[in-house]
Amino acid sequence: MQPNLSDQYASLPDAFYARVDPTPVAQPRVIALNSALAKSLGIDLDWLHSADGLAVLSGKKVLPDSQPIAQAYAAHQFGNWVPQLGDGRAHLLGEIETPDGRIRDLQLKGSGRTPYSRGGDGRSSIGPAVREYLATEAMAALGIPTTRALAVISSGEDVMRERPEPGGIMCRVAASHVRIGTFEYFARNGHGEHVQTLADFAIQRHDQDLADHSQRYFKLFDRVAKRTTDLVAHWMSVGFVHGVMNTDNMAVSGETLDYGPFGFLDTFAPDTAFSYIDRRGRYAWSRQPTIAHWNLARLAECLLPLIDSDPNQAIEIANERLNQIPQDFEQAFHARLCRKIGLDPGQDAAQLALDLLDRMAAGEADMTLTFRALGHLDLDPDNSNLNNGDLNARQHFNEPESFDQWAANWRSALNAVKGNHAERQRSMQATNPAFILRNHLAQRAADAAVNDLDFQPLHDMLKVFAKPFQNQPEHSAYQQPPRPGEVVANTFCGT
Ligand code: AMP
Ligand code: MG
Repeated sequence: MQPNLSDQYASLPDAFYARVDPTPVAQPRVIALNSALAKSLGIDLDWLHSADGLAVLSGKKVLPDSQPIAQAYAAHQFGNWVPQLGDGRAHLLGEIETPDGRIRDLQLKGSGRTPYSRGGDGRSSIGPAVREYLATEAMAALGIPTTRALAVISSGEDVMRERPEPGGIMCRVAASHVRIGTFEYFARNGHGEHVQTLADFAIQRHDQDLADHSQRYFKLFDRVAKRTTDLVAHWMSVGFVHGVMNTDNMAVSGETLDYGPFGFLDTFAPDTAFSYIDRRGRYAWSRQPTIAHWNLARLAECLLPLIDSDPNQAIEIANERLNQIPQDFEQAFHARLCRKIGLDPGQDAAQLALDLLDRMAAGEADMTLTFRALGHLDLDPDNSNLNNGDLNARQHFNEPESFDQWAANWRSALNAVKGNHAERQRSMQATNPAFILRNHLAQRAADAAVNDLDFQPLHDMLKVFAKPFQNQPEHSAYQQPPRPGEVVANTFCGT
């Protein structure tokens, strides 16, 4: 049975979107279907796997209640104002209500031209489609809020990039596709009336409990700020670099949106940026809290007239909340760091964890392997000379003595707190992943797809990255950092 879609976003004023159907492709073929996600959405698996399902996922057929649209938005890209963007190669098919009553967008990406395509072809190469599918599933398994992927389809048509590449379509599932840039589109282009409509929509979708609040628009901003700082802290705790935190790629839902030139740190190098156009490192790992703050200031500007009718008062209220963001972030990030070293959040524990990060940077240690090794440590103080964990962790440092010094301090901190060592170990292993989607692996899956239409690496990796906190010794090759020839320094968003 085909799913029922609603047209909530398509029922907003015309200025919010362009009504346009996807363009069918020559020979659509299923590459991957996400049955677990489909089930959670209440989508009938028989239908999903049927010819009718493929027709919908590839953009050939439009479901009866569906009114496909391309959403309009604007953005600050690398700090520069771009007044008109929008889905240039994506179609929002509509919304689905899950069995537990949540609403989720179903969107096709790579599904053809729209009025916002500018010079683009409206298509996507299969490489980036595979990469995004794999990335969203790996992020979800890490417990990080993210848009999801229901399907990836090969189109049977080539797209012209630097060379011809096979085309792909992805079906993306999101709590919504409302971006900071969607607010900017109306607020900065002189359509203040639509800002309120959009804010009401966002409240209805994400923060229903605020609907009757007397300061609901300020509270909405407060919630988006909280979700965003939590998200960035979560990203950074596993070494994730979004890569292009332009305001059109920041969802107000607090989900990770738009997997372009993203990457995970191998060696802990805080200045790492992944986008090849990001020469100054604007979106580097360590810059993400500052950029999130900057983006949230752009959102606050859009909401000022709704926050208070007195402009000075509105600015004061917004600024007060904005000024709190660095502390919010620090608190969220430090709490995660403390848990990563097996200690309860607190000033001293955070200092200890930050000290480890400094030593990792100086000693060029692999971030994931180092933290994971800590969780394998024999924490029993009576065995402190015999633990393999120390050995495993110290071997990742250029100067292992630097780790030894730190480990001695850490050991005293652990011994000073009560608690069950085995439990602490379990909790560290549930916090420090063994497997992250290292950039060279994502690239390997994408390259195999583009060059050979080989999707085995994708399927192999989906299985491994679905259980990032389990040891999976049979898959230890996927734990390793890239060999020198495998390093992918820059990721092109040429999608
Ligand atoms: P992104 O880099 O994916 O965030 O895209 C930035 C903007 O460029 C968005 O408005 C996209 O819809 C648009 N865009 C990216 N690729 C294409 C394409 N192949 N055809 C049309 N528009 C595109
Ligand atoms: Mg984008």
